[in-house]
Amino acid sequence: MTGAKLNVRALYKGTFIHTPVLGSLEVIEHGIVGVDHDGTIVILERNRSLEQVIEDFDLEEVETVDVDHGGNKFFFPGFIDTHIHAPQYPNNGIFGNSTLLDWLTTYTFPLEASLKDLTKAKLVYDKVIERTLGNGTTCASYYATIDTDATNLLADLSIEHGQRAFIGKVCMNQNSPDYYCETFEESKESTLKVIEHINKVDPHNKLVAPILTPRFAPSCTDELLHWLGNLKKEHGYHSQTHICENKDEIKWVHELYPDAEGYTDVYKDHNLLDEKTILAHAIHLTEHEKDMIRDTGAGVSHCPISNSSITSGECRVRWLLDNGIPVGLGTDVSGGFSPSILQTARQAVLVSRHLAMSTALEKDKLSVEDVLYLATQGGAKLVGLNDKIGSFELGKQWDVQLVDLDAKGSQVDVFEWQVPHIVEIETYKLKWSNVIAKWLFNGDDRNTTKVWVNGRLVKAL
Ligand SMILES: [Zn+2]
Repeated sequence: MTGAKLNVRALYKGTFIHTPVLGSLEVIEHGIVGVDHDGTIVILERNRSLEQVIEDFDLEEVETVDVDHGGNKFFFPGFIDTHIHAPQYPNNGIFGNSTLLDWLTTYTFPLEASLKDLTKAKLVYDKVIERTLGNGTTCASYYATIDTDATNLLADLSIEHGQRAFIGKVCMNQNSPDYYCETFEESKESTLKVIEHINKVDPHNKLVAPILTPRFAPSCTDELLHWLGNLKKEHGYHSQTHICENKDEIKWVHELYPDAEGYTDVYKDHNLLDEKTILAHAIHLTEHEKDMIRDTGAGVSHCPISNSSITSGECRVRWLLDNGIPVGLGTDVSGGFSPSILQTARQAVLVSRHLAMSTALEKDKLSVEDVLYLATQGGAKLVGLNDKIGSFELGKQWDVQLVDLDAKGSQVDVFEWQVPHIVEIETYKLKWSNVIAKWLFNGDDRNTTKVWVNGRLVKAL
């Protein structure tokens, strides 16, 4: 070997499955991945023995994890949840027959306001991080609350548990209940304090980073949106918000901003749209809005469970993708009732079929490979980390889940004749894609037996 000796901490041997491009699954059997002390992938080999790799790279004191013993175990990139409200977790499943605007006042605002109590916030945030990590979510873009201290706590706990996270202090200074509303000055001060805190506890944003979070256009004054847009422009911060989720919401935005052509224009006019912007939902976009989003490089977080639960509509995911708009998946806890991106991906398949039933366009149907791409690579693009996470590549971080379909309590029954083994290359590919489909539709957190973030083991069953 030439060059500097690699500083390898661990070697992982087994089957690696990922979706390097939309709509296709790549299976690397008998692969070996070497990870250095910073959690970066520095070796990617196949059809070699561990001993050969250790000898060739002159490795010492390296940990080896060998799951290359046949069966139904494989490494898969960690999931990326591009839209989740951490404080709403206790309300998962509680939404009745509400739609967006009454859901917010009935269920959401009272719970979010109550998390000013840091003891309660810690209970909820510990649980939501453990639960999402347990389900293979190695990176989450969180909305917290308007409260500074509770938001800082969410950042601290993400670091403690080892989850990669974007932490958003929610900004809302109008059209919100008296008990849960800020002034413009309070919102500014709180936003800056949270950014300062995050940059203190993680100076290089290796694990957590701030994300500007105007809740949605109706809850922010023109002045606040303007200030947030300038802050974003000046520092290049990420931002996230909601857009075109519900028809009454869109009507309301038109009333509040009569000079703007559409909802999307409101964000565009305030410098809140660029390639570091995550727009949740984007269901009822006009052609003009779709073009504007594409031109700014912003991405869409598709939240199918939430969209079905509070009857918002069916996002035209294929239409967005075909128009060059990046799409990732979001649980939208607790508009969505599940903290699992696997379950969200499953529902993305079903919602796309409902959409196809109304459009009669076959291409509107998303495949298993499509939704797993959205859950990993698609999400990575939205959070601006597509060079770091989302697939197995040299230079990317070891943010990975080990999936075992034969794990204790597994709900996925794979019969002997369905077990992948190389007979000939075509049957082998088909078998693995069937196994992955069985995981998508019947699997759960019991199958995610190990999870790593930045090379650190954060879950082990
Ligand atoms: Zn949301």
